[in-house]
This record gives sequence, structure tokens and C-alpha cells, in this order.
Amino acid sequence: MVAKCEFVVGVLLLTVPVKKGEYKMKLIKNYMTNNDCYRANKKITPTHIVVHDTGVKNRNIKRYVQPDVEGIGVNVNNNDWNRHGVEKCVHAFIGELEDGSVATVQTLPWNYRAWHCGSGSIGSMNNYAIAFEICQDLDSQSYFMYVYKEAIELCAFLCKNFNISVDNIICHKEAHDMGYASNHSDVMEWFPLYGKSMDDFRKDVKEEMEKDINNIPDSYAEEAWNWGIKNGLTTGENPKNEIKRQDTMLMLYKFYEKFIKEG
Ligand SMILES: [Zn+2]
Repeated sequence: MVAKCEFVVGVLLLTVPVKKGEYKMKLIKNYMTNNDCYRANKKITPTHIVVHDTGVKNRNIKRYVQPDVEGIGVNVNNNDWNRHGVEKCVHAFIGELEDGSVATVQTLPWNYRAWHCGSGSIGSMNNYAIAFEICQDLDSQSYFMYVYKEAIELCAFLCKNFNISVDNIICHKEAHDMGYASNHSDVMEWFPLYGKSMDDFRKDVKEEMEKDINNIPDSYAEEAWNWGIKNGLTTGENPKNEIKRQDTMLMLYKFYEKFIKEG
């Protein structure tokens, strides 16, 4: 749940480039340009990520995000957040598209100052955190597993691209307990129902990032690796795994077929 916004002036800084296509999550861009937060156009340097859930049972991203692009669906109730006067806004929503598949919809540029956690006794995470909402449904384990995985991949993506420490991923309740957010319980009324703490979440994000790092060749081998993919000598998977004798022979054979036999 997000608290009502408080209008602290953010710090103006650079746009950070985001690399695409490195994760399996489905990321749709649909900025809420009518939301006053978007129009305020304040920038931050993100050093933290705050995880929220909507606190209301409704899996549909269309409840919050409009217009209908890339399968989000139409909200006929005219209560989405892409409008004047909502006084809250996050960088992304995770939930279901119209067809029931889980996706992430980005609703603000990552370096915009969002209005999501109000302020606590010390300050406000709005000034330096990327925030996303997970559309809540406490009653389904399978839905939880899907959105939990999506949230892990989103956080791994953000940590990598903005050089954010995994330790700086916190939920709204943790932000409040630290003195930097309004008094809300999300996501601790939900994750523990399915055996997950925020420590588990941070550990899972870390593992996701390490998995990704292991799938990229070291720089000294990058040119050769890409040459191997281009010429069909390797599928491009698991560059750092050990190789068996039969696979060595297979690569030699493919090389022979490609460059010697016909040449
Ligand atoms: Zn919240």
C-alpha cells in the first residue's frame, strides 16, 4: 500500500541507461503521464528498492495502470492511477495481464521520484528508492509463486543496472521500521503466508544475479564465444561449465563440417 504523497523536492540527476533483454520477466513500459507524480518530473539517484503490495485482493494490473497496451486490458471503472489527483505513484506494478499471465508494467522512468511510502520519523525513502507494487491475492499459492519470481527478476535487473546493493531491497514495513516510511505492513502480511521472509527474498535476488553473471563469458573469451555462436559451434549456453570429451569432439566435428569439409 502506498501512503499519500508528501511533496519533498527530489535531487536532479542523470538518466541511467538500462540494458534490455537479459531477464525472463515480461517488462512492459506504460508511463502514467497523467499522474501528478509523473508531471512533477523530479529526479532521484536510486540507491534502494522498496517492495509494496496493493493490500487489496485484485490481481489485475489494469485496475491501476491504463491505457490498455500490450494486453493490460481496459479498466472500465475509471479508477486507475493514470489520472490527476491520485497522489500516489510507483515505478512499476507486477500482476496479471488480461490473459492471466504475470507481467511487470513500468509506470515511471526508474530515475523519477515516486510517491509510495510517505515519510517516517527520520525521512522518506521516496527521495532515493525505486518502488513497485505487487497486485495482491493472499489466497493463491501459485499466483504468489509467479509474482514472487517476477519480483526477484525485476529486483535483480534493477540492482544490476543501477548498481544497487541487494541489502538495500526492503519492503514498506521494513522502511517504516527504519524510520523512512509511513506505517504500513506490506509485504509482511503476505510473503510469510507462503514461507518467505524479506531475507529470503534478498537471498533469492542475489542468487538470480549470480546465475546471470555465470551465463556471461569472461571478457578475454567474449569475442571467441560470440564467434562460436555465430558459426553454430556452440548454442551459447553455460560458458563457464566444464566440457566433456564427447562435447569437445562434437565441437571439432562441427568445426570440420563448417570450415574444412566444404572449403
Ligand atoms: Zn506499501
